This record gives sequence, C-alpha cells and structure tokens, in this order.
Amino acid sequence: MTLAAPLPTDDADRYLIAQIRSGQLHAWKQLIDRYHGRLAAFARSRLGSTGESDDVVQEAFVGFLTSLPHFDEARSLETYLFSILRYKIGEYLARRKRAPEAFGFDPDELAHGVEATESDTPSRAAARRELSRRQEQLLVVILRRLIDELVERQKLEEIQMIELLFYVGLRNKDVAARMGRDEKAVAGVKFRALARLREYVDEIREREGAAAALDDVPLSEDATIARIWREHRLTCPKRSTLGSALLGLLDDPWQRFIESHLETVGCLMCRANRDDLAQPAAAAADAGTQDRIFQSSVGFLSKTGG
Ligand SMILES: [Zn+2]
Repeated sequence: MTLAAPLPTDDADRYLIAQIRSGQLHAWKQLIDRYHGRLAAFARSRLGSTGESDDVVQEAFVGFLTSLPHFDEARSLETYLFSILRYKIGEYLARRKRAPEAFGFDPDELAHGVEATESDTPSRAAARRELSRRQEQLLVVILRRLIDELVERQKLEEIQMIELLFYVGLRNKDVAARMGRDEKAVAGVKFRALARLREYVDEIREREGAAAALDDVPLSEDATIARIWREHRLTCPKRSTLGSALLGLLDDPWQRFIESHLETVGCLMCRANRDDLAQPAAAAADAGTQDRIFQSSVGFLSKTGG
C-alpha cells in the first residue's frame, strides 16, 4: 500500500495523452469518460448540483485540451485536471461574487476544511514568503521521503498526526484531542519528523553543496507547507484504496487514516473520488453529460493537433 499515488502520470494515461495529441477522437472520449465522474463530484461539492457545476466541468475539459501542448507528463493527469477545474470554479465564483444579490448567498460559505484556509488574508499574504522553484522541489523531496518511510514502516498513525500538524496546521493539543492521544506523544512524533527532515537536508548539503540545501526554508510555515502538500498530494491515497476504504476492507490504521484525510483534512480531490465511487448510479446518468462534453469540446481537439 502506498500514498501519493496520483503521481506521476501512469502508463495508461500517458498512452491516452499521446493518442489525444495525435488527434484521435476516441481517446479524447475515453479520457472524458474516465475522469468526468470525479471532476463532476468535485464541482458539485463546491457549487451544488446545478447547471453551473456541469458548465465548469465542461470548461475544465476544454481548458485541458487548449493547454495540452504544455502538459508535463511528469505531473499527475488527475491532479492536473483537478487544478484546471479548481481554477475554473474560482473564475466562476469571482464572476458570481460581482453580482452576489443575484444568487442570495456568499460563495465563500461553500468552502470548508483545508480549502477554507486556502485564500490569503492580508496578514497571511504578508507573512508568506515565496520559495524559489528549487527550494520548493527540495521541500517536496524531503516531505515525500519522510512519508514514504513512514508508510514502509506502517506508521499510519504518525502519518495521520503529521498530516494534521503540517498540512492542516493544528496545534499539538488539538491533534491529541482529535486522535485520543497524549499531547506528549504528538509532540514526540513532531520532534522526530522535524529531526528526520533536517537529516535529509544535511544529506543533500553534503551531496550537492551548501547552495542546494534548504537553510532558508521555513518548515513550520503553514501556508507554504499546506499549499505544497495539496499541490503535490503528498498524503492522498490511490483511488483504488479509497474504494477499498469505502467498502470497509482496509485494516484499521489505514481505515482511520483515510477517514481523517477525508473528514478532518477535508481533501476535496479525494472526497470527489470517494463520492464518485460511492454513486455508481450517477455514472449512468452522467453518460449523456459526457457525450455533450465530448461534442462541445471536440472542435478544440483538431486545433491542438497541428
Ligand atoms: Zn487527498
């Protein structure tokens, strides 16, 4: 069992993308069928079951086609599609905010979990330090390594704590309360995690020189860590693992970890996958929508072919 599985684009997706790039219509239809359900579930979680949520999903698929020449296959296709959709939803909400009386509610109220802390308040924006691309890549490498090591040792409870501490930004005592654990135990896990991260940084410094190390990176700065965690989906389970959790087939520490990732962390991408998997009936109803998306987007495919 592994985490962070949506990275990188797998062979099946890579093959599909190659076919789409050469203008093959059936491949484009296949990609829509494969990803529509989870994207639609994501849009519904933000916008409700409305025509608007169908529209933004359609815009996201068109957005994918028009950006296809720039798609980097080192990235996860699923995460890339979610990020386009997130952008389209943001655009839509900004449009709607300009005329809020027409809709009668504040779109910000729809946000929840980690997503609710995502927008920068002025003080957060002031505190936020932009990392260089290289620093950010190194941060991803060491965080991923820490998580991989813990998965290998089956330390799911520690991963759950680390996720709540670093990603959600909860305090030790809140993590302890949520997990029914001693506050000292949480402090110990945090201490050991930070010590491991520093060891990795030291290794990198030895191997690649001082310039490569992360001396300036604020490991405790919540906004930056949370953004990187979400963008790189450091602790997102595979879709198949979410499916097993839904059926209650996983061992207890995994089941609890996934529950926490979905409910406490409130990962919208995994929730969308879960909702999509939980509603097989919706798939049949989606077939018509998928056809419409195909028909309305296929014109953009030929434009990317040349
Ligand atoms: Zn997730």
